[in-house]
Amino acid sequence: MDAATTVTVTGAGGQIGYALLFRIAEGAMLGASRPVRLRLLEIPQGVRAAEGAALELQDCAFPLLESVEVTDDAATAFDGASLALLVGARPRSAGMERADLLAANAGIFGPQGAAIAANAAADVRVLVVGNPANTNALIAANAAAGLPAERFTALTRLDHDRAVGQLAAALGVSVSEIERVAIWGNHSATQFPDVAHATVSGRTVVDALADVFGGTGAALAWLDETFVPRVARRGAEIIEVRGSSSAASAANAAIAHVRDGIGGVDWTSAAVVSRGEYGVPEGLMCSFPVTSEGTGYRVIEGLPLDDRGRARLDASVAELVAERAAVRELGVLS
Ligand code: NDP
Repeated sequence: MDAATTVTVTGAGGQIGYALLFRIAEGAMLGASRPVRLRLLEIPQGVRAAEGAALELQDCAFPLLESVEVTDDAATAFDGASLALLVGARPRSAGMERADLLAANAGIFGPQGAAIAANAAADVRVLVVGNPANTNALIAANAAAGLPAERFTALTRLDHDRAVGQLAAALGVSVSEIERVAIWGNHSATQFPDVAHATVSGRTVVDALADVFGGTGAALAWLDETFVPRVARRGAEIIEVRGSSSAASAANAAIAHVRDGIGGVDWTSAAVVSRGEYGVPEGLMCSFPVTSEGTGYRVIEGLPLDDRGRARLDASVAELVAERAAVRELGVLS
């Protein structure tokens, strides 16, 4: 059995937290031989819900679960943490302007970044799930003095998996046959789910779609008019159908993001800090196709982007630039 890993989950009393904690405790994220110590951070009004989840975790008698601690104090929550999943965020309420949303979340993710730098283990890795996830990750990384920005990532794996699911359904194949899908940009409606490099059992996805839709033109029209908007707006579709927002699929994607970043993966999507790849301004937390050899995500470079792809990436990056400018105006970024 390996040494135990301390994992901090914020917003642990919420919907995604509830779908996440049990699978982490069971070993889905870190493997069947690594015990976990869970630290659940909540705001005071969320503590009871997190305590309830902690009681249920105890009732599951998970062999890998060494301890569970619930707290509303960030320093306690991140103390010695090697992994932090920042799920709790301020949701947009009716009539709230985007600037107000960014400001409210800056007030959460700035102090959390500072608390992580001051208290977490030297090897800590941070995944931001709470929206607006890319800019929240930027804020947390900026506030985490002494920690490399590369340790902070934001979740676009759910968008990636949604894209894979849609393609598999359209082509009538298993999801395991689809590779090299890419999500570019912001985790928002401007994101660009890209299949230009994607393959299905070795064939290009576009060619395979052309067979299904009766030609390349029809396949491209389906991608533009149905696939891209459906992936980008899937969250709204889930709310409409289910009556509440996606939680299990978001938690599953968070687990896959951490598992593959640590365990290694040839190709997936994640928002990571830009070092200027594909002309994305340095320092932005932008989603790219990424790879990992087990030491964190690295952008897959050198993929050709056609004019259509370039325009879509530029539009999403423009939104990230605007979000960064808005939080700079708040004096949040140094
Ligand atoms: P959820 O658990 O459903 O969602 C949490 C966050 O994840 C939201 O920002 C949500 O964004 C985001 N998210 C990212 N991807 C997805 C996705 N695909 N589908 C749905 N959500 C996604 O929210 P709850 O309100 O149930 O729970 C939030 C908890 O966080 C509450 O218990 C609250 O008390 C707590 N909280 C804790 C803080 C802390 O620990 N300091 C700070 C703030 C809140 P979106 O809103 O856009 O759906």
